[in-house]
Amino acid sequence: AKEQGRNDFRFYAPEMNARMLERLELENGLRRALEQDELELHYQPKVELAHGRVVGAEALIRWRHPVLGMVSPADFIPVAEETGLIVPIGEWVINTACRQLQAWREEGLPDVSVAVNVSARQFQQADLVGVLDEALRSTEVPARQLHLEVTESGVMSNPERTIVMLRTLKEIGVLVSLDDFGTGYSSLNYLKRFLIDSVKIDQSFVADLTTSSEDAAIARMVISLAHSLNQTVVAEGVETAAQLDFLRRYHCDQMQGYLCSRPIPAAAFASLVRDGG
Ligand code: C2E
Ligand code: CA
Ligand code: CA
Ligand code: CA
Repeated sequence: AKEQGRNDFRFYAPEMNARMLERLELENGLRRALEQDELELHYQPKVELAHGRVVGAEALIRWRHPVLGMVSPADFIPVAEETGLIVPIGEWVINTACRQLQAWREEGLPDVSVAVNVSARQFQQADLVGVLDEALRSTEVPARQLHLEVTESGVMSNPERTIVMLRTLKEIGVLVSLDDFGTGYSSLNYLKRFLIDSVKIDQSFVADLTTSSEDAAIARMVISLAHSLNQTVVAEGVETAAQLDFLRRYHCDQMQGYLCSRPIPAAAFASLVRDGG
């Protein structure tokens, strides 16, 4: 067993070091990215199904790495969360989204909403409210144009604190969406007690909407549950006309997905809004 253990050690150690090194590089890279303006936001349209126009966007972070090119948030957000860098990054996202809304307003673009993703750790930060207040105040953006997308895990790690936080956010006037709905473990009881304005049907359900009767049933259930709680419903990851037909038939409020557009730079999004979506 001792022999075995030593072999295991020799076998695994270099691999572990490589992974730690990679993480450290990612962490240092992210710090530099923040300082040197390598981060940007792309905007994915949200379409109101009742009239087919673009009414808002989800802001999605992009990292233009000088050597690696575009790095996916799926690769660096988890590291940012582990290291706490998500807090300054999240602050950058909120400030950038508000400055963009301000710029669009000055250009005379019709009012749109921008939803920013808030990770669990950021949501539990006492200072989030202060950051939002300051970003809205300094840009004079109306609070109702800024939405926050929080995940079930983000709000369920401390539900009682979440209830207080959501009440404060309601007072400020920013709207809150429950992201990736159906993939976590939020109880129906909390769904009622949380002051949530909308839920997003996770793309894993939307993907098989027209081929899986179970996923179709879940989507219908989420839509009617949300509506009976006075919440609006956004379907994400909509890629086909058949999925869109289904969502229309069951009165989903908004859709987001490649069928309409991928996440695009701010200028491209503004043109889309001007052309009426
Ligand atoms: P998410 O919040 O669930 O965002 C939706 C993801 O689905 C985005 O991936 C989007 O580009 C992608 N998507 C949109 N429409 C379609 C479609 O029709 N088909 C498919 N297959 N995918 C679609 P993205 O931009 O790579 O972001 C991945 C995740 O990274 C996000 O998932 C979110 O959890 C996180 N993230 C992105 N930006 C931020 C940010 O600013 N802050 C934080 N905390 N997390 C972020
Ligand atoms: Ca989201
Ligand atoms: Ca989502
Ligand atoms: Ca997701």
